[in-house]
Amino acid sequence: MISLKSKIEELHRVGAATSKILGRLELYTVQDLLFYFPFRYDDFSKSLPIADLTINTNVNIIGTVELIQNKRSARRKMYLTEALLSDETDTIKIIWFNQPFLTRSLKVGDRISVAGRVSESHGQLTIISPQYERINSDDLIHTKGLVPNYHLTSAISQKQIRSLIKQVISLATSVPDWLPSEIRKRLSLLDLSEALNKIHFPKNLNEAFAAQKRLGFTELFLRQLKAQLIKKQIKSKVAPKIIFQTKITQDFVSSLPFKLTDAQKKAAWEILQDLEKGEPMSRLLEGDVGSGKTLVAIMALLNVALNKKQAALMVPTEILAEQHFKSITRLLKPYDLNIELLTHSHKVTDINSADIIIGTQALIQETVKFNNLALVIVDEQHRFGVKQRQKLLDYNNDSATTPHFLSMTATPIPRSLALSIYGDLDLSIISQMPANRKKIITSLVTETRRPAAYEFIRREIKSGRQAFVVCPLIDDSDKLGVKSVKKEHEKLDKEIFPELKVGLLHGKLKAKEKEAIMNDFLANKIQILVSTSVIEVGVDVPNATMMIIEGAERFGLATLHQFRGRVGRSDYQSYCILFPSNEEITNPKTIERLEAMTKYSDGFSLAKIDLKLRGAGEIYGASQSGFPELQIASLFDYETIKKAQAEASAIIIKDPELDKHPLLKAKLGEWEDSIHLE
Ligand code: ADP
Ligand code: MG
Repeated sequence: MISLKSKIEELHRVGAATSKILGRLELYTVQDLLFYFPFRYDDFSKSLPIADLTINTNVNIIGTVELIQNKRSARRKMYLTEALLSDETDTIKIIWFNQPFLTRSLKVGDRISVAGRVSESHGQLTIISPQYERINSDDLIHTKGLVPNYHLTSAISQKQIRSLIKQVISLATSVPDWLPSEIRKRLSLLDLSEALNKIHFPKNLNEAFAAQKRLGFTELFLRQLKAQLIKKQIKSKVAPKIIFQTKITQDFVSSLPFKLTDAQKKAAWEILQDLEKGEPMSRLLEGDVGSGKTLVAIMALLNVALNKKQAALMVPTEILAEQHFKSITRLLKPYDLNIELLTHSHKVTDINSADIIIGTQALIQETVKFNNLALVIVDEQHRFGVKQRQKLLDYNNDSATTPHFLSMTATPIPRSLALSIYGDLDLSIISQMPANRKKIITSLVTETRRPAAYEFIRREIKSGRQAFVVCPLIDDSDKLGVKSVKKEHEKLDKEIFPELKVGLLHGKLKAKEKEAIMNDFLANKIQILVSTSVIEVGVDVPNATMMIIEGAERFGLATLHQFRGRVGRSDYQSYCILFPSNEEITNPKTIERLEAMTKYSDGFSLAKIDLKLRGAGEIYGASQSGFPELQIASLFDYETIKKAQAEASAIIIKDPELDKHPLLKAKLGEWEDSIHLE
């Protein structure tokens, strides 16, 4: 008997290979399949007799194969499979490219259902490369009605996943509905099993929307519920009071080589105010790439240390930890503090003698015990999960106090949205860039102009500047045209810039090697650093003014914006050069997306454009746009967010421990394991 918890490999026609591929999509059980939602539907709800077909329409037709044969097109060196399909009214030609095996599976006399777009060739209507399926029941899932499309890896087809989900969809009725029924009624939401049925196999768009409304609501609702519960928990705890050291802080600020922006001052002030209170701060510091969040963090770290308490700064990569460690040690030198670095490759022997600890995830491992921790700052926090976050809440050996918590992000979310999504966090926004900044000149460059671009870089380097080159891959892939860092490094080092020092950085290097390379780059012993996306977050080398991105179309706009944020960190003019892969240069969508980079310089505009461009035709989905990932709900659906917020707080008031809602409580626990809450 197949149940919700059954492993996918127990299903009909799933072998070890397929289940491994599904594992990469984090699909292991029947339940996982049911909750893997489509991002789009192809509309083949128009079923027509062949005689009624018109050009440029998406249709479903049902007919009998009259003829099927393979041909070789000499000119374009490919296989054509041509078929004639007829019904009672007429006959139409169908063409498939490079699928010669079709003549083995489809025979004359077969009745099939076909879905595709009607086009014209040599004055005749045809359908090119349609989906097809055999008619053996009424249940046509690939070619008729609204056909769901899923985000997949290339090794598995839409047809395969659809068939798998179809195999298990009847089990949707055994998924318990954990959304309290009064909420369901009040908001006219479908029950869960119906919603699951209709999200995968809707009869019409209204059904799809209704399913989406239910599933989207619950996603936001869980988020709200979790956020509000955390907030309550936090407010009930006691935190150490950190007295704002006004004089020393002012002296520190005036010792800097630049003036703080007003936005930095305001954010720092809000944070230092919070620290003086006896309850734990729980704050999000949001500021675009390069807005100077680190400095605000340092002011908080300094104040905690001056109060003779410990403060920790946690960052997502070792490179970043090293870099922060160095710059903070330098900046805080006059205060005679014990500043330590803690990463997997750099252990601290006695953590309790440290005033400030800078590190990676290694900081929150079981073995690391503080006894006097008063502040935890998490930089670029989208990499940290809710579990880690809660671990921090009860961190100290003596559990009498809970550390203050500050989270820093460059993810551009407008205030109203952030407040309603991260209900547990207060918000400070650095809305202003340092005054010395010049707009980064960004251009989209084709291969023919590559030599000129290299000449330009050579000139800039002669005048003392440095450059980053970002490539999508570490090793050469079989995918033609995608640049690997290793190849690119070799080419730049040996052929293009033999007179310069060209470094190579990627995630597979040992920590010590990475550190050495970053140090050399910082010291300008390396002029060009070829890197994978490991430099995406946080890295700060103000003298680097050029950023070249190879295979630029392979990155989302939010990521490109992060890359670009590595330059433009000083008062030198900076440049960002985007090279799309050759085969993408003619793709208008790619060009439009990359051109947005040349027009806009702020993260928020870019994230919105990314969402719009990739959202075309997609009903929902915000993943990879730089916004936190929601599977189905829209972060711009402000109405629903507000409703979710209200319903969540109503439940918490009446049933703070969720004891009267056991299913909901269980769901929340399960969900915590799987999501990242910022
Ligand atoms: P992010 O907000 O992306 O983390 P950083 O904190 O790394 O930005 O700051 C980027 C660069 O700007 C650093 O080199 C930092 O020293 C510098 N910086 C920070 N604040 C100012 C300021 N007010 N004026 C000029 N430069 C600043
Ligand atoms: Mg930063």
